[in-house]
Amino acid sequence: MTEKIKKETLKRLTFLPFSLPSIGEEEIAEVVDSLRSGWITTGPKAHQFEKDFAEYVGSKYAVGLSSATAGLHLSLMALGIGPGDEVITTPMTFVATVNMIVANRATPVFADIDPRTLQIDPEEIKKKVTDRTKAVIPVHFAGQPCDMDRIHEIAGTHHLHVVEDAAHAAGTEYRGRRIGALSPLSVFSFHPIKNITTGEGGMVTTNREDLAETIRMLKFHGISKDAWKRYDEKGTPHYDVIAPGFKYNLMDIQAALGIHQLKRIEAFNRRRKEMAERYNQAFAGLDEIELPQEVSYPHLHAWHLYVILVRPEKLTIDRDGFMEALKAEKIGTGIHFLAVHLHDYYRKHSPYRRGDLPHAEYVSDRILSLPLYPGMTDKDQEDVIAAVTRVCRQHRRRA
Ligand SMILES: *Cc1c(COP(=O)(O)O)cnc(C)c1O
Repeated sequence: MTEKIKKETLKRLTFLPFSLPSIGEEEIAEVVDSLRSGWITTGPKAHQFEKDFAEYVGSKYAVGLSSATAGLHLSLMALGIGPGDEVITTPMTFVATVNMIVANRATPVFADIDPRTLQIDPEEIKKKVTDRTKAVIPVHFAGQPCDMDRIHEIAGTHHLHVVEDAAHAAGTEYRGRRIGALSPLSVFSFHPIKNITTGEGGMVTTNREDLAETIRMLKFHGISKDAWKRYDEKGTPHYDVIAPGFKYNLMDIQAALGIHQLKRIEAFNRRRKEMAERYNQAFAGLDEIELPQEVSYPHLHAWHLYVILVRPEKLTIDRDGFMEALKAEKIGTGIHFLAVHLHDYYRKHSPYRRGDLPHAEYVSDRILSLPLYPGMTDKDQEDVIAAVTRVCRQHRRRA
């Protein structure tokens, strides 16, 4: 056998997961330091991480939380969104975005996506505005920015609040500005598959002191001041509850990870970009899959996800079959996302039916995420490329 044939017929021996966090020795040492210090829950490291994160995105305030889901919950609550209000978002998101609209007893309204970039289409947002619309939640899908100028223009005309779901957008730039200070509120996630991780965790960034204060109060039982300050030597043991709040604080153990992950974010995202470009080149000639396009305005893509669309009309298998075939090649994949309105709860409790959001449905049926993370080696990526190419060849539909 020649080298070439050998390379093409050999599959991996070990499974390559779709995603893995990159935890370094600094992160580990900082967590150990937390454990030894006695400050395990919210304390000095959480405050340091908030300060560092605000500086990184260029916002005045940053509030650390237990998750982005908590951040979305409290952001909408802090804006006073409740029963009777409509909130517009994309169906091409993780269900948390929409679940938190429902958690605030408001009504989710879906605006379809641009089928090329997979971002929420501002023209569709405009069509969905009614007298009850109170807010819009753009989601920077896969790490590319939505068209924020256009969205702010529509929001300005109709007096809508803008809350950015920036779960994919740590490090993303829109027209030269980092995501995190463009709208009244932006919500980031540090779940292990995101660009940086704290295990679980989230951050809300804002330039508005009133919103930062309200979210700080709501994230901790509705207590007017951070409880950890009660226990230091200058604190007092008294506190007052001014709203029935929640328990959504970010622990120091988590922030210990975040402080060092944030220092590595630029290097992580550069590596993601380099790998994404390599995939783009390798897949350019494959007719059996479609590659999403980059947005046309100036931006920096954080490449949270590398997604492809499987074209069942060119193949003898569908998207799920394609994922199975990759699994047999020992390549892990993910689905980001099944359009939210196609989930059981939303089929039963929202007016949307298949056919109502054709672009999102087209994508939802075909999309899959390939492995993309800084801990992958060049060889790992070669294996993914070889496997995808092989699956396309083996399952090509003959005309
Ligand atoms: C991951 C994710 C969330 C939720 O983040 P958590 O920190 O897990 O709560 C919200 N929105 C989008 C688009 C996500 O991908």
